[in-house]
Parts: sequence; C-alpha cells; structure tokens
Amino acid sequence: MDSKIGIPDGNKDGESSAARKNGAQKNVWLRASTLSEALSMLYERQEESVVIVGGATDILPQIKDGKKHGNVFLDLNGLQELKKIKEDERYIFIGSMVTMSAIINNPLVQRYAPTLVSAAGSVGSVQIRNRATIGGNICNASPAADTVPVLIASAARILLKSHLTSREILLEEFFVGPGKTLINPSEILTTIIIPKSERRTGFVKLGKRSAMTCSVVNHALSAELVDKKLKNVIAVFGSVGPKALRIRELEESLEGQEPSEELLGRCIPVVEKHVKPIDDVRGSADYRRRMSGVLFSRLFAHLFLGRPMGGPIL
Ligand SMILES: Cc1cc2nc3c(=O)[nH]c(=O)nc-3n(C[C@H](O)[C@H](O)[C@H](O)COP(=O)(O)OP(=O)(O)OC[C@H]3O[C@@H](n4cnc5c(N)ncnc54)[C@H](O)[C@@H]3O)c2cc1C
Repeated sequence: MDSKIGIPDGNKDGESSAARKNGAQKNVWLRASTLSEALSMLYERQEESVVIVGGATDILPQIKDGKKHGNVFLDLNGLQELKKIKEDERYIFIGSMVTMSAIINNPLVQRYAPTLVSAAGSVGSVQIRNRATIGGNICNASPAADTVPVLIASAARILLKSHLTSREILLEEFFVGPGKTLINPSEILTTIIIPKSERRTGFVKLGKRSAMTCSVVNHALSAELVDKKLKNVIAVFGSVGPKALRIRELEESLEGQEPSEELLGRCIPVVEKHVKPIDDVRGSADYRRRMSGVLFSRLFAHLFLGRPMGGPIL
C-alpha cells in the first residue's frame, strides 16, 4: 500500500511488490494518533534514523531527488494535539503540525503575531500552504525558510519532546547549518512559543517573482519604541548565510536611537558588511548583499518612519 503522500511502500506492516522483487529493504510507515504514541515509536526505533513526516512538502522532493534517505517514516498527521493554537496571558502556543494556511486564518496569530501571518502567507502556493507546517519549516533548517526570521525576531522558543525528556530552547539557538539543527533522533518539535509583546515587527522577502517564490533574501526586524527610542532591537536576515543570521552590530547601532533617515543611511553599510551570501541559482552573492541593504531600508522606513511598503514580497 502506498502512503497518502506518495512515498512508495509506505505502510506499517507491508512490503512493496517492487521491494519484494528486487530484495530491497522495505519501507515502514508508522502512523501515530497521539503524541505519546509517536514518542514511544521514535524511542523504540531511535537506532533506525526514523524520518518524521509533517506536510512532506520538503521531504518528499528531497527523497525523490535522493537528497534524503531513510526507510522508516513516522507520520505526525494524526496528532490533533499538535494542530492547535492556544494562548495564556503571556504567550501564544502554536503546535508544530499547524499549517501555514491555519496560521494565516487564526485570530490569535492575526492579533498577536501579524508578521507571522505575512511570512506564512508568502510561502509557496495555496496548495503548499495547505500542507506545509510551521514545524517542518523550522526542522527542515533551510537558510531561506520564511517563518524562521520572523520567529527569531519575535524571541520565539520551541519545545522539543522525547519519550523521556522535554526541553525548551530559544529558536535562534536551534540551527547549526543548512539542514542541521540541535534536535536529537528521539525528539519531536511539538510547540512554538511566542511572547505576546508590544514590539513593532515586520517581514519582507525578495523572490525571483512576486508570488510562489523562495527567498533570494528575506528579513525580519523588530523593536520596541520607548520614549521615541528603539529598544531591544532584533534584526534577522535569511538566505544570506548557512542559517538565519542576526546582525548584532546592526542591532547595537540602532539600540537607544531615535529613528531617522540619517540613522537608516548609517546602518545600510553595516548590513552589507555582515551578511554572508553565496552565489547560487537564485542570485549572486553580490546581488544578495546589496538587496539585504535594500530590504532593511524598506522595512526600517516602513516600521519606524511611516513609509508605505506594499506587500511582504518585493
Ligand atoms: C513548490 C514549493 C514552494 C515552496 N515555497 C516555500 C517558500 O516560499 N518559503 C518557505 O519557507 N518554504 C517553501 N517551501 C518549503 C516547504 O513548503 C516548507 O519548508 C514547509 O513549511 C515544510 O513543512 P512540511 O510540514 O511540509 O515539512 P516536511 O517536509 O514534512 O518535513 C521537513 C523536515 O522537518 C522534519 N520535521 C517535520 N515536522 C517535524 C516535527 N514536528 N518535529 C521534528 N521534525 C520534524 C522532517 O523530518 C523533515 O526533515 C516550498 C516547497 C515547495 C515544494
């Protein structure tokens, strides 16, 4: 039996006819209906490099292209508890299996994290957004992931659970490099925790076209305004380094300053100095460097100088 998402041989007990014919190792498809069941399955099979399956919009193409390997799959799509968005007085809690479409349409996210709505709305197409989960966007660890800069700029934390442990870490500490994170083989990312705050936060992305496009560069910026001065600035750039990049020198240059055209002009070279882009199919390093400055300029002017910006995709 094939799995619903099209990975061949994907059932719990069976072996595909193709696998039987050529003696290849069979694929095993594990379906859990509760988080504790999923964590037990992962714990029992932690030696087998189990591939966790969310919406499969990243892993399916990766498997088809031979970039991801594994023959045991753990499907989280039956876990209703990871598809919820909740709040308490200080935080909103987004389950890792919440899709981009669900984020866009959720009143709590619209109210407390509207910039995440913009970023989720810029991901792929409607069809992709209906399947793509926020947990998958994070765990895939692409430097171009669109929700990640916004979540880092919102000081988000994540909850990682295994059969025996539970730990909460700051999202920005989770990434090691392209496709690499601090997650252990027995862990599942269960929840994204976003503080409710008065920060002004914005997101902008440059693609090769204005819709259905991966980021050539993306940028999220957030700060509080206290007595007209910028406080606790967080500036994050994606697709210009091996992982989402916070530019501390930029943050320090803005900290305690009153927003002005002059301040903006002084900070653009700081952005261009610190991004670490590479040449690839989506753009040259030089183009990305210059556009990082442009994205910062547009977003800063929009958030703090009242200039209109249009939508999140340039
Ligand atoms: C046509 C197309 C366009 C796209 N456009 C964009 C775009 O504009 N912007 C963008 O950011 N991305 C884009 N993507 C990439 C992709 O859609 C997103 O990264 C998506 O959010 C991944 O989520 P998923 O649920 O599909 O993850 P999956 O493919 O299911 O999983 C991705 C990775 O995360 C792991 N994983 C998933 N969930 C968990 C969990 N809860 N705990 C631990 N590990 C987990 C998986 O094992 C896998 O390694 C695009 C993809 C396609 C195919």
